[in-house]
Amino acid sequence: MKERLLEEIQKGSKGAVMKKHIITYLIYNENSTITDLAKDMDLSIPTVTKIIDEMHEQGYIDEYGKLETNGGRHPILYGLNTDSGYFVGVDVTWNSINIGIINFKGEVLKLQMGIPFERRDTLECIDELCNHIEHFIAGLTIDEKKILHINVTLCGRVNPELGYSHSFFNFGERPLAEILTERLKIETSIDNDSRTMLYGENIKGVVKGVKNVLFINIGWGLGMGIMIDGKLYKGKSGFSGEIGHTYGYDNQIICHCGKKGCVETEVSCSALYRKFIEHLQAGETSIILSEKDIEEITLDDIFSAINREDLLAIELVEQIGQQLGFHIGSLINTFNPDMVIIGGEMSRAGDFLLQPVISAIRKYTLSLMSRDSEIVLSKLKDQACVIGSCLLSRSKLFEA
Ligand SMILES: [Zn+2]
Repeated sequence: MKERLLEEIQKGSKGAVMKKHIITYLIYNENSTITDLAKDMDLSIPTVTKIIDEMHEQGYIDEYGKLETNGGRHPILYGLNTDSGYFVGVDVTWNSINIGIINFKGEVLKLQMGIPFERRDTLECIDELCNHIEHFIAGLTIDEKKILHINVTLCGRVNPELGYSHSFFNFGERPLAEILTERLKIETSIDNDSRTMLYGENIKGVVKGVKNVLFINIGWGLGMGIMIDGKLYKGKSGFSGEIGHTYGYDNQIICHCGKKGCVETEVSCSALYRKFIEHLQAGETSIILSEKDIEEITLDDIFSAINREDLLAIELVEQIGQQLGFHIGSLINTFNPDMVIIGGEMSRAGDFLLQPVISAIRKYTLSLMSRDSEIVLSKLKDQACVIGSCLLSRSKLFEA
């Protein structure tokens, strides 16, 4: 069944184009009558009836009762057979992998979070990543042949159209997406993490119908996803949103991109970690010191200290929040967005981060503009990227 539909779509026959259109319509709208589908596709009712019958036989479409009308006919409602196709999404971070799978309707079947993984720039590491994905798929109770697409999300510069990742796993001539597709034997695409998180929030998270949204991904680095008029904005080569590597500070700190004074050297989890350790080394105190030596402290410890109201940790998060708010202020003046979402690992600090961000935005933004933009925390939190990746996986075949 999978081969049939995918092959048909790839060949681009007229029938396949119509089937793809119907599936896409049913993914992003609710169940529908033949009359509504015919209207949407600008086709005759007998033509649509014929295609629907064929798709029903192929197992892609089911009947979902009848439309309630005032007297007269009660036309049949058609919808997707949710279990006729699945989409896998993968989120690769520097020290772990998260993998998930959704059905046609976007319902999450399984999520596996925090699989230990050390990201290295080697072919062996890609092999290891593929082993984890295969192991995840092998542990599912569904027919593997029904997995229609996989999307892998990475940080840094990713060109989703050409399938190249430039910051990690870049081995010259061949695009990473092609290497993954060959190895996994399922068509695989790649995308950038901040954009993916925004896509997740748009479909299943905090975005409720607004169309101009910025997603600030403050994790170990600092990135941004951009949605304009309801569409993800990628830029010419997919590299848009690299706000962390704009020049911001005369601090002589060399960023991992090789340049000095990038914004993310002061506004990120890596900056929080560095500052926290520096303050302890300078003799300041924290509740963590009663539990651990300075050398053993991890970023997780700092977030756990924030939740236990550790003054040093909270003060540093507030400072970073103020700086972040200052930079978001410029973005609001530039984009005039409906909404700015604060996500990524530092959003674990919740209101300790959000409040200083909001007050700095009020201070540094044209007041008429800042009133326009709602500033909120990510709803999907640490699952934003993997859920976004599953949904992007579906959209690579069936884009709204
Ligand atoms: Zn940089």
